[in-house]
Amino acid sequence: AIVRPTPESDAELAFEGALRPKSLAEFVGQAKVRAQLQLLLQAATLQNRTPDHILLAGPPGLGKTTLAMIVAEESGRPLRMSSGPAIQHAGDLAAVLSSLVPGEILFIDEIHRMARPAEEMLYLAMEDFRIDIMVGKGAGATSIPLDLAPFTLVGATTRSGLLPNPLRDRFGFTAHLEFYAESELEQVLVRAAALLDLPIDRSALAEIAGRCRGTPRIANRLLRRVRDYALVYGGGAGLGAVHGALDLYDVDELGLDRLDREVMTTILTRFDGGPVGLSTLAVSVGEEAETVESVVEPFLVRIGLLTRTPRGRVATRLAWKHFGLQSAAPGTV
Ligand code: ATP
Repeated sequence: AIVRPTPESDAELAFEGALRPKSLAEFVGQAKVRAQLQLLLQAATLQNRTPDHILLAGPPGLGKTTLAMIVAEESGRPLRMSSGPAIQHAGDLAAVLSSLVPGEILFIDEIHRMARPAEEMLYLAMEDFRIDIMVGKGAGATSIPLDLAPFTLVGATTRSGLLPNPLRDRFGFTAHLEFYAESELEQVLVRAAALLDLPIDRSALAEIAGRCRGTPRIANRLLRRVRDYALVYGGGAGLGAVHGALDLYDVDELGLDRLDREVMTTILTRFDGGPVGLSTLAVSVGEEAETVESVVEPFLVRIGLLTRTPRGRVATRLAWKHFGLQSAAPGTV
């Protein structure tokens, strides 16, 4: 499961950390988002105020955490990192908010997974830099207002649609991160290979760039597997090592991994191409619906294998062709 986006070990995390770009200039691709962020940060600096709250939306591994770190770095402000699943009570959030230093950047990853009462506390905090803390229970409960230091919230989510409107509306700017073009992924890989001190052919980098699901994190991981392969089998990090490593780790020529293929073949063979509802599909492949929807599907949609319709997920003609399968009901696809 090497190519899944979730970091698996300390070594993988350290590796990612070492390759993280530290400035907007070093950050490859996402030209529009970079320009938008640059403007927002410069305006805040000129007016000597905290930058507006920023929401970063997009599939995993496209650089949301990296951008949050860059926002802090470029604006010369300290960064506090937290995540939605870690904020299960309003009190958890109150503790974080009340300890922020003036101008601090607060990064909340997976912000759509925060508990509802915390979300409500956040509305007020974002708008007025103030929270109301409830003390006591029942009839004797009172709320004590507490002023906060001004801060900038940077939220990250794989699905901005999952956020309640009042929360979404309080961000001054939402950056939608897109999958990267192959030429951009090649730049990410050239940079990573140089940082890793790995001599590798340009053709090998181009091959990895075409097979990493448009995702820099996966590109960097595949590069590491290719390095392992070259180290163990010798012969250098060329096309041979790329093909050897990618075959071994079940990455096909479109860059699909095992779960991607399982989702597609399930739709094709068990549901005759669909339409099939998300929850039925998720149960059939033994994954959470959120994982299928926000991790697996966006790339399948982007490369034209899958469409999402009001009646459910439908495999395209291209999908039947790619998997070399035929519908049981000819003429329907
Ligand atoms: P998640 O939401 O799953 O945490 P993410 O979108 O926050 O994912 P990051 O952790 O920021 O993704 O990025 C993953 C890795 O990909 C980083 O360690 C970094 O090395 C690399 N990376 C991401 N974006 C870029 C980029 N634009 N240029 C170069 N490297 C990048």
